[in-house]
Formats: sequence, structure tokens, C-alpha cells
Amino acid sequence: MTNPPGNVCVYCASSQQAHADFYSVASELGRILAEARITVTYGGGAVGLMGSLADAALRHGGEVIGVLPEFMDELEWGHGALTELQLVPDMHERKRRMIDVADAIVALPGGCGTLEELLEAITWKRLGLHGKPIVIVNTRGFYRPLEAMLLATIDEKFMRPEHADMWTFVETPADVLPAIANAPPWDESARQIATW
Ligand code: AMP
Repeated sequence: MTNPPGNVCVYCASSQQAHADFYSVASELGRILAEARITVTYGGGAVGLMGSLADAALRHGGEVIGVLPEFMDELEWGHGALTELQLVPDMHERKRRMIDVADAIVALPGGCGTLEELLEAITWKRLGLHGKPIVIVNTRGFYRPLEAMLLATIDEKFMRPEHADMWTFVETPADVLPAIANAPPWDESARQIATW
């Protein structure tokens, strides 16, 4: 990874109905990444936490790349003012591209889409398909149950204790860049401990 990262992929909600704190946190993360001159790659949506993130990063002079499946573009779900909006054939290509271009991955709160993207990134990391830091922002304690679930996978020996090095839970956007910088090293040798 380049340090500081040149490109951070952010997974987050499309919902417009959640508590105001979630949108503030998405905006704050957008501002922090833009001010650090880090390109934001995200799902390309105009609304929800996605919209707040992208709007704030753009407002603070940042570069924002959206990766949007064509069917969502046809539904006009895409953000109209990004640095670049990349259209891809399907959700699988979108998720692959978002991980490929990023130096690090951040998850803000979200629904099943966000959770699926996050767990896929963790799964691929376990298999040594990438070694990128994964930082999970626990706004309003949203991710406490997921943290417990992941630790349960280790307690019950579905994964090894070393696998807990794959992710870092943080409380605020201000903690994200330090967590990326301090993420334990991970590379394709992880394959040797992928199975148990
Ligand atoms: P969720 O966390 O369930 O809201 O999922 C976020 C993901 O949902 C995004 O990465 C997209 O795959 C998808 N998505 C759902 N609704 C929208 C929308 N209105 N605009 C863009 N993407 C959306």
C-alpha cells in the first residue's frame, strides 16, 4: 500500500431515513479524505450516506470516483457531479473494481448492500486475494453486533485468532487514517492460514 493511501474505497448506506449523525459522519469522512488528497472510490450513488460522503469530498476539492452498475444508471441513481462515474455491467464487477483500485477499504454504517460489500472484502482478504486495510466506523455503536459476530467466528474456531488482524473497528472518521496507517501487514501468504 502507498502510505498515505492514494485511494480509499468507502462502503456506506443508500438510505435517506437514518439518524442525522450518520450523514454527518459520512460528510466528515469525505472532508477528511479530500483534505488529505486521497481519492474516494464509492458506489456512485447520489443519496444517503453515499451522497453525503461524495458531496463533502467534492466540496472540499477532493476527487471522487463512483462505480455504478448500468441498471442503476438507467434508474438515474448515479451522482451527477463526480470527478468520474464509471459504469460497469453488474454488481460483481462493481465490487471487484472498487476493491482493485483502492489502497484501503472503509465501511460506514449501511444496509445489506454495505454489509455484503464489507464481508466480501474481509472474505477476499482472508483468502489472500488482497491485503488492504479494512476499517469499520462504529457510529452510534452500529457495528457492535458485527464485531461480536466476527469475534464469535474466532471463538467458535470457524476462523483463526490471526484473522482478527484483518479489520479495525474505530469510533470516528478522525480515527480512520491512523487506523489505515497502523493496520497489521497482510499479504497473499495469508492463504497458508486461510483454512483450519
Ligand atoms: P445499502 O447499505 O443496503 O444501502 O447498500 C448500499 C449499496 O446499495 C450501494 O453500494 C449500492 O449497491 C446499492 N444501492 C441501493 N440503493 C441505491 C441508490 N439509490 N443509489 C445507488 N446505489 C444504491
